[in-house]
Amino acid sequence: MLYCDESECCGCCACASICPNDVILMKRDSEAFFYPEKSPAGCADCGLCETACPMKRAVEDIRKCAAPEAFALYHKDKQILRSSSSGGAFTAIAQAFCDAGSAIFGASFSEDYHNVAHTCVTDLNNLSAHRKSKYIQSDIGDSYRQARDLLSSGKKTLFSGTPCQIAGLKSLLMGKDSPNLLTVDLICHGVPSQLVYAKYLEYLKSMYGGSVVSVDFKNKEKFGCGTNVKVGLAKKKALHTMGADDPFIIAFLSGLCLRPSCHACPFATTPRISDFTIGDLWGAEEIVPHLDSDTGLSVLLANTEKAKKLLPDIQRFSHIEAIDLLKVAEHNSNLREPSPPNPKRGQFMADVNKEPFRDVVRAYLKPRPAIHRLAARVLSKKAKKRLKAILRR
Ligand SMILES: Cc1cc2nc3c(=O)[nH]c(=O)nc-3n(C[C@H](O)[C@H](O)[C@H](O)COP(=O)(O)OP(=O)(O)OC[C@H]3O[C@@H](n4cnc5c(N)ncnc54)[C@H](O)[C@@H]3O)c2cc1C
Ligand code: SF4
Ligand code: SF4
Ligand code: SF4
Repeated sequence: MLYCDESECCGCCACASICPNDVILMKRDSEAFFYPEKSPAGCADCGLCETACPMKRAVEDIRKCAAPEAFALYHKDKQILRSSSSGGAFTAIAQAFCDAGSAIFGASFSEDYHNVAHTCVTDLNNLSAHRKSKYIQSDIGDSYRQARDLLSSGKKTLFSGTPCQIAGLKSLLMGKDSPNLLTVDLICHGVPSQLVYAKYLEYLKSMYGGSVVSVDFKNKEKFGCGTNVKVGLAKKKALHTMGADDPFIIAFLSGLCLRPSCHACPFATTPRISDFTIGDLWGAEEIVPHLDSDTGLSVLLANTEKAKKLLPDIQRFSHIEAIDLLKVAEHNSNLREPSPPNPKRGQFMADVNKEPFRDVVRAYLKPRPAIHRLAARVLSKKAKKRLKAILRR
């Protein structure tokens, strides 16, 4: 049995990727999360799929990992910093590790911004496809197998993803490490339902009268670094919304629509299963008050010797300084524990399935009252900074 309860399957795709007879297909359930379906015809009962499942051995695997060293980081290139989710740690790692032609795996939006899948780029100039957090589960497709084949042919390979996806890749590699492989995971709050995301895109189209042509969940242009959303609309002005007023971000952060396994995630802890872990440096005002958190700061965890050896090269592209891991975890709960489910999750998802999304927004995902939104905009760090600059003139 691959899993008994939904909370035991993170949808990592390791079982489907390892099956020598390709008889496991990843199919979407009624909330549009991927789950494996094994077809009995063609199954050789070899048991590989069950042994590969990282959820079954996560606690044991994590126990064998070394203690991380924590750093605050921001990329020295202002353009890269602006176009990264946090402080640009991912780009700095890729620049430090990769040679010309190295393979870099990460999550990319489809051209129409309706789906997210893992893709591979071989040119650092094409890294923008991977940059920015996409808040739905990325479809792994064939990428574990591609990475395994590239490593066997001696190619340097960087693989980034959620911790469960890195665990899935390691399962396919049967735990064999290689100097040519570097893994980077995220501090992970969980992945929201693709169904909710699809309804959100339809809702935006009906509210604002233009189809969605781009989505950026970590836009820094108007409100500084945070979970602030910019949506491009065909033939219309782009829509900028603070995370606290965006229905999809409200549903995501309040635990109304996360994958069931995310509430029981064994990877929401330290130590970590990847070489590097990257995330937002929440609590930066307290941890590194001398650094500018408005443009974005990353937390970088160097978890292995391989990662620690790469730090001087990362330093060529970014400013890094050592910080206290305990302080980081104090401000970033997903380094200590999984996100709790919202008590209304079951009803919310049932309503998303049957009610018009406009009514769901009204019932569960209302933005703050206009006066609060205005106050938040006026008091946003970016606005305060602009005001200070004017006063200094
Ligand atoms: C679903 C999700 C939940 C997160 N939860 C937290 C959290 O609770 N706390 C926290 O500190 N940080 C969290 N993050 C990480 C944070 O938002 C940034 O992605 C991270 O700090 C990297 O920023 P950067 O500036 O280094 O990278 P960028 O240059 O912006 O690169 C983004 C990186 O994230 C990867 N990525 C983007 N979307 C996905 C996806 N859907 N699935 C797998 N990989 C993806 C890309 O492959 C790339 O490696 C989360 C990210 C995601 C995608
Ligand atoms: S037991 Fe072997 S052949 Fe059957 S589904 Fe699992 S991996 Fe595939
Ligand atoms: S290997 Fe991954 S997708 Fe397959 S059952 Fe285990 S957690 Fe689910
Ligand atoms: S919270 Fe855990 S199970 Fe959910 S996507 Fe993140 S790593 Fe995977």
